[in-house]
Amino acid sequence: MSENVIIIGSGPAGHAAAIYTARAKLNPLMFEGFMAGGVAAGGQLTTTTDVENYPGFEAISGPELMEKMRKQSLRCGTRIETLTVDSVNLSQQPFSVTVGDKTYETKIIIIATGATAKRLQAPGEDLFWQKGISACAVCDGALPLFRDKHLVVIGGGDTACEEATFLTHFASKISILVRRDKMRASKTMQERVLTNKKIEMVWDTVLVEAMGNKMLTHLKIKNVKTNKESTLEAGGLFYAIGHTPNTEFLSGQLELDETGYVKTRPGATLTNIPGVFACGDVQDKTYRQAVTAAGSGCMAALEAERYLSEKPHSNDKSNSGI
Ligand code: FAD
Ligand code: NDP
Repeated sequence: MSENVIIIGSGPAGHAAAIYTARAKLNPLMFEGFMAGGVAAGGQLTTTTDVENYPGFEAISGPELMEKMRKQSLRCGTRIETLTVDSVNLSQQPFSVTVGDKTYETKIIIIATGATAKRLQAPGEDLFWQKGISACAVCDGALPLFRDKHLVVIGGGDTACEEATFLTHFASKISILVRRDKMRASKTMQERVLTNKKIEMVWDTVLVEAMGNKMLTHLKIKNVKTNKESTLEAGGLFYAIGHTPNTEFLSGQLELDETGYVKTRPGATLTNIPGVFACGDVQDKTYRQAVTAAGSGCMAALEAERYLSEKPHSNDKSNSGI
């Protein structure tokens, strides 16, 4: 028997899609993943402490917020399996989704598998993760522990520039560590940091070790040209070295951009294959927030509902304009 909708992934995008499709009586089935991409079911917010920018909650722990979303999905009628999807076959309708030794057929797939922030795996990183080290300045930068401190950002892309600029609202000083003698960020973003008096550039430099007591206080860093090591004060350390979208299981069947994110039609969640929708961080490398992920999960559900009610689906051609 074919399912109406299978949702793959269980962050804010997946749960918003589940709540909307369940309330539309589409009887969705969600595969929430089992440590998929190294992240627990519930997604990236399960790896953080307080979330202070999700409307409706002045402050709530990330895991608690995701537990609430899961409960709401179940209450609306979503069936949830704690399993990771291994592969999909999108070459014909109904699509198939393979999980272990079982294969499910479905008219619609909503991909909400998120992205994983890259980490350096430097000594001390695990010890001070969320105790001074974060992978999201926009999420954590405003927390009291980072106020009026010397903060460090690692990375030379647009994210590093954006996060460093954002942190200038709270920090006394910011150092950006760049592993080469140039940044890959766009000219405009570079100018923004190069002309900001609170920001200091530290070129050709990599992290050797994160150090502190209960909280991060210092970094051991190394100049890769001179091999000279030194110590840098750090009341906070923000990684901005890129994200990896969780799209491996698609194995090339859906149009992705050059960095592996699912391509969606601007302003929509349509992919290049009719009946396959993508929402949240797996298709968004600009905003990457819980509320934007949930918003696009809602869009995917509404678009899925419209798709099911509009068409006979067996002879669908590829979506154009993605
Ligand atoms: P994700 O949250 O990434 O969830 C995707 C889920 O899909 C994961 O559970 C994953 O395991 C699962 N999955 C992956 N592959 C498969 C598969 N093959 N089969 C089944 N399941 C699969 N945003 C804010 O708005 N406010 C904050 O305060 C905030 N703090 C953050 C703190 C940290 C440390 C991090 C890393 C991010 C933070 N963010 C914050 C960003 C926010 O978490 C993300 O934007 C949001 O979670 C993206 O939601 P998503 O639903 O797209 O995917
Ligand atoms: P990028 O991949 O563009 O940049 C990652 C940066 O991290 C690079 O400078 C890279 O160095 C560095 N880096 C990677 N690995 C390491 C490591 N192990 N040690 C030290 N440094 C490392 O990622 P971004 O997240 O910055 O951007 C992703 C995409 O999102 C881009 O297309 C960007 O344009 C876009 N974006 C746009 C924004 C905007 O327009 N406002 C805002 C944010 C992102 P190296 O250069 O040496 O490889």
